[in-house]
Amino acid sequence: MSYTFVGLLGVFPDVGKHFRLPLNQAKKVLISTNDVPMIAIELLEARYNTVVNDINTKESLLAKVAGVNALFCSAKVKLDIDIINAAGAQLEMVGAMSAGLDNIDVEELKRRNIKISNTPGVLNAAVADIAVLLTLAAARRLREGRIHIENNTWTSNHKWMLGRDLKGSTVGIVGLGEIGQAIVKRLKGFEVSQFVYCGHREKLEGKELGAEFLTFDELLSQSDFVIASCPLTPETKEMFNETAFKKMKRTSVFVNIGRGGLVDQTGLIKALREDTIFAAGLDVMVPEPLSSDHELVKLPNCFLSPHLGTATYQTRSDMAKLTAQNIIAALSGEKLITPV
Ligand code: NAP
Repeated sequence: MSYTFVGLLGVFPDVGKHFRLPLNQAKKVLISTNDVPMIAIELLEARYNTVVNDINTKESLLAKVAGVNALFCSAKVKLDIDIINAAGAQLEMVGAMSAGLDNIDVEELKRRNIKISNTPGVLNAAVADIAVLLTLAAARRLREGRIHIENNTWTSNHKWMLGRDLKGSTVGIVGLGEIGQAIVKRLKGFEVSQFVYCGHREKLEGKELGAEFLTFDELLSQSDFVIASCPLTPETKEMFNETAFKKMKRTSVFVNIGRGGLVDQTGLIKALREDTIFAAGLDVMVPEPLSSDHELVKLPNCFLSPHLGTATYQTRSDMAKLTAQNIIAALSGEKLITPV
């Protein structure tokens, strides 16, 4: 890059955007995993000295992170104090390619005045679609039905494989945020009778959606479907435990698209085994990946998807692009698009 161009950039920081020339090759960006959509890599490589971590491990990240100005984080590797320390004092920005931030030491980054972004919004539809899929699959015993086909135990009798209706039901949303609202909007087409939700405060969006604000306990006891779509925090960790499942209807279906840590899995397994609740549909669990001999995999009334919430070509691409744009904004001294 010529000195004239570098000088111009100081006066007109937008020049680099229009010419798609490196804005500042002296700035270094590390992408934490090797599976990030190309669009993000191209955007960053065009501007900065960009390195992609080729192996998705903490060790590999630690070996490459020293001296970076920005870190592009996908959820696969936890961004903890070791990595923040190894990066060094010049680290100015962490762009998380996720809505959830439970994988990132946000408190420590904030303490050091390091900017943080995430990717809310662009993933709502894809995650809400998976929530609907899990709700229907668990309610209509899809896994159990499939097992009957595989085992040649498909019988025809009137009471065989009866499930639960969404029509006329009460659906409880634990965490009426962006994804929770997208779930309600989708489920409205299924003739649900009543939507209820809980959280720290009643929300305007809840009123607009015609959803009633309840306490957690009220929601558990009144809902036919309980859908978890809140973040994993010290407060929400294992909030769905044996006690919570006992407060739910025996006919109810539990769905989790938030994080596996929201659930005490021992309590859930007991509830599913003893018919304390009817069924569960889980996109997230502990650990991930879950091994095939895990108890949750064996339960016929538990429908699992392997954390597919955002896993569509378009959504992952949009998340990657937004993360890269946030990093570019931070390194150009501009306002982040989706700051944390
Ligand atoms: P969001 O817009 O920030 O909404 C989160 C909602 O949870 C807020 O409305 C918050 O409201 C509520 N909440 C927080 N603590 C709560 C509690 N103790 N009880 C009930 N509600 C509580 O976030 P989002 O974009 O919808 O994402 C939600 C979560 O989904 C993420 O944090 C992430 O873990 C998960 N997620 C999963 C996937 C997947 O692939 N399965 C993909 C994306 C995101 P109040 O604070 O007012 O209560």
